[in-house]
Amino acid sequence: MKQVKNVSEVFHWESQRQKGCYFEARSVVEVIKSDVVIVGSGIAGLRAAIEAARASNSRLEISIVTKVQAMRSHSVSAEGGTAAVLYPELGDSFESHIFDTVKGSDYLADQDAVERFVLAMPSEIYQLEHWGMPWSRREDGRIAQRWFGGYSYPRATFAEDKVGFFEMQTLYDTATKYDSIKFYQEWFATSIVKYQNKFVGVTALDIKKGDFAFFKAKAGIIATGGSGRLYSFATYGYSATPDGMHMAYKAGIPLKDMEFIQFHPSGMVPSGILITEAARGEGGILLNKEGERFMKRYAPEKLELASRDVVSRAIITEIEQGRGFKDEASGLEYVHLDLTGIGEKKIKERLNGIREIALKFRGIDIISEPVPVRPVCHYVMGGIDVNIDGATSIAGLWAAGEAACVSINGANRLGANSTAECLVWGKITGELAARYATEKQHEQTPWEDVMMEEKRIFDGILHGSGSVNPYEIRDNLQREMDANAYVFRTGDGLLHALKRIREMKKQDFRHCEDKSRRYNTNLKDVLEVEGMLEVAEVVLLSALTRTESRGAHARRDYPNRDDKNWLKHTLAFRTEEGPKLDYKPVVITKYQPAERHY
Ligand SMILES: Cc1cc2nc3c(=O)[nH]c(=O)nc-3n(C[C@H](O)[C@H](O)[C@H](O)COP(=O)(O)OP(=O)(O)OC[C@H]3O[C@@H](n4cnc5c(N)ncnc54)[C@H](O)[C@@H]3O)c2cc1C
Repeated sequence: MKQVKNVSEVFHWESQRQKGCYFEARSVVEVIKSDVVIVGSGIAGLRAAIEAARASNSRLEISIVTKVQAMRSHSVSAEGGTAAVLYPELGDSFESHIFDTVKGSDYLADQDAVERFVLAMPSEIYQLEHWGMPWSRREDGRIAQRWFGGYSYPRATFAEDKVGFFEMQTLYDTATKYDSIKFYQEWFATSIVKYQNKFVGVTALDIKKGDFAFFKAKAGIIATGGSGRLYSFATYGYSATPDGMHMAYKAGIPLKDMEFIQFHPSGMVPSGILITEAARGEGGILLNKEGERFMKRYAPEKLELASRDVVSRAIITEIEQGRGFKDEASGLEYVHLDLTGIGEKKIKERLNGIREIALKFRGIDIISEPVPVRPVCHYVMGGIDVNIDGATSIAGLWAAGEAACVSINGANRLGANSTAECLVWGKITGELAARYATEKQHEQTPWEDVMMEEKRIFDGILHGSGSVNPYEIRDNLQREMDANAYVFRTGDGLLHALKRIREMKKQDFRHCEDKSRRYNTNLKDVLEVEGMLEVAEVVLLSALTRTESRGAHARRDYPNRDDKNWLKHTLAFRTEEGPKLDYKPVVITKYQPAERHY
């Protein structure tokens, strides 16, 4: 390891200047100091930053570190809606939203968290409205809502079928009004630094220049989104890798309920691009090869608007029983999503985004033709273990959004509840982090840890050598996950994939072909693959160990839910030998587990 030449000089600089530099023979560790550092600029990260700025009257300095340009964060692709109870006078109720969410979660959600979430949501919708969000409107001018799967009331609030784009634009515009919020775009965070289990900051790599920095802060929030790119057939952008989860896991925070991965029923074949659930909410139907509306056999009441886990299992069952179609080019089997009954006017008003997508990527006009769809990896119910306030086990560190597991989604998330969760826990964590940063001093920096991280990246990976292509590892990992941890799972398949992932972990892939510093995406990609392997191992081990079927985790060898043994959250702790599993109870306040019918 390189010697830290003059530690006192670094401390001296820190106390003298906001920004100090520590120079070494080959690299520079820049110290970027602020009060709160937020990793991630999706809906959760931006909402947190705004709240931290508001709660502190702009007295705190807030850094947002994000590996893509802020408006390219994955949240921009959210399509269909954000759930909230807006119209109790027309028949909706908090009770109903809470119950639908708990039932949708297959009773694994923590019910106190769900209640807090549901009660907080309406004001988030109005807050966004006040910041300029162009919600779609009803005929009478009030905010419009539509049906989504698993709900008893049409409570998905929407802006055409581009809800994520408009929410991001609204939050980004609002965040840029605060001078105290500073964006570090295309900076890749690599590790969480702590001292005596208190948060001290994060290390990050400036992708543009290749510089390495230590973002020192009193409080931190991890809002790095989901990890859907563990799969190749996914609705996620290529940047959706589990970096933040991996950073937390390495820092000693457990990952919770990682076996629960959501497969959305309607990924367009062959690309996997999402056709929003709003398409079914607006009247779209699913048909098999025989032209049969098959959902009537699986969910006689809710049909296509049953919860996602139920609809996805139905589609795969139809395909397996020979009633699917086959895409000859990709070999993928599918069913039809038929939107022709919705009508041109409504499609153009409310589903224009997916009409464009189907036209551009498949040459299909949804006004007159069905779309080929099959279940696609879409969301991760699990994540960084946090309490109801979004606090992790490290003092001064919170997590929010898809990266975190509070848990309101349990074993299966209802559509439109994720953007909503990002808003609610973005606000909660932003406020708490600001309060903490106002009361506390900066912690002492464990420089050895910072320098070890610098050495790992520059000596180990950038200047390292190896015989195995990291991109092959990424492809092989995704192939194993697609094949063995999809809608239906078996013990044999999960074990096979786990063994393969463990072999890959040992392989010599941690090196770069590209040795340059500027825009070295090769280096970023290798860092991502490292995290993907470790998090995939957690997913597979958690899934293999959970010998029951619950929500999105459907085991063919254990087809029933087993509340006696498995009504509990999985916690995976990192050890040198691999993940070590433990469990904690589910919070049940009102709704005792019951059999689900849709
Ligand atoms: C196609 C699609 C449609 C969807 N539609 C809906 C919908 O209609 N309604 C709904 O409720 N939900 C929807 N979802 C789910 C929802 O959009 C996401 O769960 C949510 O937007 C996640 O937001 P986030 O803020 O947690 O993270 P993201 O928006 O994913 O942002 C993650 C951020 O972390 C940053 N980051 C990650 N790793 C690093 C690193 N190492 N260093 C620095 N920065 C890092 C990224 O740059 C990014 O800014 C949809 C999901 C998909 C894929």
